[in-house]
Amino acid sequence: MITKSALADLPSPSPRSADPAALAAEIIERLTYSIGKDAKVAKPHDWMTATILVIRDRVIDRWMASTRQTYESGGKRVYYLSLEFLIGRLTRDAVSNLEMLDEVSEALQALGVDFDAVAALEPDAALGNGGLGRLAACFMESMATVDVPAYGYGIRYVHGLFRQQMSDGWQVELPENWLAHGNPWEFQRHECAYEIGFGGTVDSVDDGTTGTQRCVWKPLERVIAAAYDTPVVGWRAKRVNTLRLWTAQPIDPILLDAFNAGDHIGALRDSNKAEALTRVLYPADQTPAGQELRLRQEYFFSSASLQDILRRHLQQYDDLSSLPDKVAIQLNDTHPAVSVAELMRLLIDVHGMEFDPAWDITRKTFSYTNHTLLPEALESWPVPLFERLLPRHMQLVYAINATVLRHARKVRGYGDEQARSVSLIDEGGERRVRMGNLAFVGSHSINGVSALHTDLMKQTVFSDLHGLYPERINNKTNGITPRRWLMQCNPGLFSLIREAIGDEFMDDAEALSALDAFAGDSEFRARFAAIKRENKAQLSNLVARRMGIKLDPSAMFDIQIKRIHEYKRQLLNIIETVALYDQIRSHPELDWVPRVKFFAGKAAPSYHNAKLIIKLANDVARVINNDPAVRGLLKVAFIPNYNVSLAEVMVPAADLSEQISTAGMEASGTGNMKFALNGALTIGTLDGANVEIRECVGEDNIFIFGLTADEVAARRAEGHEPRAIIEASSELSQALTAISSGVFSQDDRDRFTDLVAGLYDHDWFMVTADFDAYAKTQRQVDALWVDEEAWYSRTIINTARVGWFSSDRTIRQYAKEIWKAGP
Ligand SMILES: *Cc1c(COP(=O)(O)O)cnc(C)c1O
Repeated sequence: MITKSALADLPSPSPRSADPAALAAEIIERLTYSIGKDAKVAKPHDWMTATILVIRDRVIDRWMASTRQTYESGGKRVYYLSLEFLIGRLTRDAVSNLEMLDEVSEALQALGVDFDAVAALEPDAALGNGGLGRLAACFMESMATVDVPAYGYGIRYVHGLFRQQMSDGWQVELPENWLAHGNPWEFQRHECAYEIGFGGTVDSVDDGTTGTQRCVWKPLERVIAAAYDTPVVGWRAKRVNTLRLWTAQPIDPILLDAFNAGDHIGALRDSNKAEALTRVLYPADQTPAGQELRLRQEYFFSSASLQDILRRHLQQYDDLSSLPDKVAIQLNDTHPAVSVAELMRLLIDVHGMEFDPAWDITRKTFSYTNHTLLPEALESWPVPLFERLLPRHMQLVYAINATVLRHARKVRGYGDEQARSVSLIDEGGERRVRMGNLAFVGSHSINGVSALHTDLMKQTVFSDLHGLYPERINNKTNGITPRRWLMQCNPGLFSLIREAIGDEFMDDAEALSALDAFAGDSEFRARFAAIKRENKAQLSNLVARRMGIKLDPSAMFDIQIKRIHEYKRQLLNIIETVALYDQIRSHPELDWVPRVKFFAGKAAPSYHNAKLIIKLANDVARVINNDPAVRGLLKVAFIPNYNVSLAEVMVPAADLSEQISTAGMEASGTGNMKFALNGALTIGTLDGANVEIRECVGEDNIFIFGLTADEVAARRAEGHEPRAIIEASSELSQALTAISSGVFSQDDRDRFTDLVAGLYDHDWFMVTADFDAYAKTQRQVDALWVDEEAWYSRTIINTARVGWFSSDRTIRQYAKEIWKAGP
């Protein structure tokens, strides 16, 4: 141990140099002394690890300064709790944000190593399913960029989202093993560990001194949550924040007891059981996993994070009454909602607080982001399961509910029906704990993620809670980080923009608006088009390499990449593809615009129709790509294993961005923002953030079609009649007949019969209702495409006008309006 006085005299390490020669020397040193390899025999992964370790040193200098600054300034800390972080690769991001791309490339070059090749070896960290997890990752980077002292908290899954392979056009799920070669970005914090309990009983004990009763939870099972930290570098490395991910470990003493007693198998079983808790990410998107293990994961990471937050607070401040002034906790969807009950338990049972002040602190500390209105996606847990696993939390949920219901009836005059709707317990059928209602009542702010979604939230899921607490719901339209989604993924466009308008947009994405003036500049347009063409050539190379399909980069690249879900309507796109195929064959005399339709995305392994839609896309692709009558005018490619790294290649290569969800069902979307920023035109419905993208880019610069959210709701209320619609549209009925009769599935003619029958029968997602408008709009897209000048001036306008969708803007709004934190 070091004494306080000695501490003052400790030598401080000297900050690391950015000089290429110094970098190269250190990389060799790391290869030798950290990895134990001679440069002459080092494998590519060794070079990657050594390079990351050297970069990491540069990050650490900034990291320590940031932590010290937060402590000394006494500023409020923000905690972002999310069960998912869809991070992707970190190395290019870190080097670019440190502004050391040239230096690192040069250093490696001097050693005969290519930086791009090294960066490509890093596994793509997929600790999330889709948009929600990617948002958390963009937010982490933006919080560091706009100088908000923040910690992300989540789970260090050993296996992230599954790797998708295609077998005869069917999705096959393989385990993803992102930690196989170790993870040089993370630090294991052996000293940072907490006990997490499950099950057992709650005893009421006499306090002894005051004569009051206190509850003591005696869990039956306990595991340890141990921390791993990853630094998150902000732009220009102004600040480095921490992403702290928890892993589950067995409690050693118990294991030893069992082991010593000769129960070797039992000891190993307990150890396996503890570790199983954080082994896998549930691969469901927009559907609650519903299994006990999932509730255990939610409680595990919530409890560990809250214990850590309270420990850090008490290390610096005297008591917990100042918690809301120094701490803001954001709940990313309801996955961490049990935190509301856990903070109450810690304040009351562990720190001896009374219910009322604890409840006051809790509500002032938490805020909650809602991500979905789909009724089937709202999390709830059966009361018996919740009570068995978390008996003390069940009591607290009942106590909170009593407070809420009393307020609803006495203060707001709510009757039985409204009381039922705001209750934390769903009493219809099997009794369940509603996690959305728990998060809502336990927070001072509840935000939606686009203007439309926030309005619908007030009108639908939370209408009665909104009536009860009308000041709580607010909007924070999502954003994306322009570092990853422009600077890093599209270096060609990035340098063209820099040359044209200077560097201001690098620190303020809204300064991209200066590009507007270049939309009419033919030389600039030609250079913009050349970069797009180069990006398309790169994507074509990837498709040729991975799939053996040859593509023409001068064709229109029409891209729909996102999770496969019926509400996102990949099926609408595929049916239109089939209709277009039919037209091209029937009308060889017409001038068809050459197109490539790209799809990519994963389906939840248990989602039957989504997996069938993947198979349909592949079946349609095989037939169309091999039909000489198409004369190469139409190609279809379903690229396997969609992830962040694939998105980084596809987004810059898109001409047309497909954002065609059933209106009212996509909360925001962020894929839509990435494409518009990289100079693609959007074809989309008035859903989620598409509405606001239209406002920013202007209605002449986006292709909007289809029913509005209000019209969808009205149709559903009146009764939608898909059969009549199909029969009135020859194009649609021909395409559906082709699909259902087996034109694309000669080996199993009935494969898609039920899928198509669902469209005739109920068509919940309004595919038939929007088909004609969609097909007609696609022909307008073709008409604009042939006018190259008009096309590129519109794409330039898109890039110029979507700077507002930077996640820096979103985070500044959260910081100012919800967290009251940051500069
Ligand atoms: C941006 C992104 C998403 C979200 O896409 P949406 O089109 O908004 O659904 C999902 N997955 C990955 C890998 C992404 O990069």
